[in-house]
Amino acid sequence: MFKAILIEKDESGYRATLRDIDEGILSQGDVTVQVERSTLNYKDGLAITGKAPIVKRFPMVPGIDLSGTVIKSQHPRWQSGDRVVLNGWGVGEAHTGGLAQRARLSGDWLVPLPDAFTPAQAMAIGTAGYTAMLCVLALERHGVKPIDGPVVVTGAAGGVGSVAVTLLSRLGYAVAAVTGRPQEADYLKQLGAKEILARTDFSAQGKPLEAERWAGAVDTVGSHTLANICAQMKYRGTVTACGLAGGRDFPATVAPFILRGVTLVGIDSVMCPLPERLLAWQRLARDLDVTQLALMTREIGLGEAIATASELLAGQVRGRVVVDVN
Ligand code: NDP
Repeated sequence: MFKAILIEKDESGYRATLRDIDEGILSQGDVTVQVERSTLNYKDGLAITGKAPIVKRFPMVPGIDLSGTVIKSQHPRWQSGDRVVLNGWGVGEAHTGGLAQRARLSGDWLVPLPDAFTPAQAMAIGTAGYTAMLCVLALERHGVKPIDGPVVVTGAAGGVGSVAVTLLSRLGYAVAAVTGRPQEADYLKQLGAKEILARTDFSAQGKPLEAERWAGAVDTVGSHTLANICAQMKYRGTVTACGLAGGRDFPATVAPFILRGVTLVGIDSVMCPLPERLLAWQRLARDLDVTQLALMTREIGLGEAIATASELLAGQVRGRVVVDVN
């Protein structure tokens, strides 16, 4: 038996509880991992609270991320003792996930834990940080360079936002951080933000085109914020859209795309092909200042994960939450 968060849905309703379970509850897979750390992402908050239909089958162990050590493998790439990282692939949604002391997974999904990181550091990064790196890679692929002008990051004090701010600033970009929490201005400056902007400046309906401000953007918010960012892009600028913390709608016009040649790049971390994942983790190992990770991370026990999920959805969590499952 081992400890896990279990989500159930039946006549008594939708509920998440801390439980002792056995391997019989775990989904099928050719690799078994002893989990050391997991995390709480926005999606885990939605799954645990049931605020959005994230969980596709019940009972479900939530947790879209995990890091730990292989204890059993029938997969050619992995053997007992290997240290691994898992992000996405429907884990914690349709396949039992990381908020447990043990996980059974497909070996095709796993990435080797980079030497640069401990399991706790890898989970401080987590899907949020790996997604932030996918956004940075997309900006680079579209030719956005520090000399082209500032890059704006929305939802900046959240998980994706915090890692995006620190990564972009370390790579030499002038970062403008958009936040609804002015009290986090010093934190965002410590991560490297040059400018702090109020969420309310972006959250109402704006004009189809506004003054050109940004060479690049990382948007975690969606809705009017994303539309306004697109309207403020410099000629041929690139926006990466990865989140919907402010809404899943996109009330925009085509003006920025057809008059300024703006590119809007969609970022998906869940089904991202393995070669790009490996690249993202290599680049995190190279470009992320691990001392900044401590600044943006809080560690909790498995027993605290359920309560913290609600705080996360209420926008009260700063940066990243690592879960020590043991
Ligand atoms: P967090 O909860 O850590 O951060 C979200 C941040 O968004 C908050 O901290 C807050 O930042 C801001 N925010 C919250 N509510 C609102 C609102 N109503 N209007 C405007 N801003 C708001 O979540 P994550 O960083 O883990 O994820 C961010 C988003 O990215 C989520 O929508 C998530 O689903 C998505 N995501 C997508 C992935 C993908 O593969 N595409 C992968 C990972 C995440 P502040 O207080 O600074 O304003």
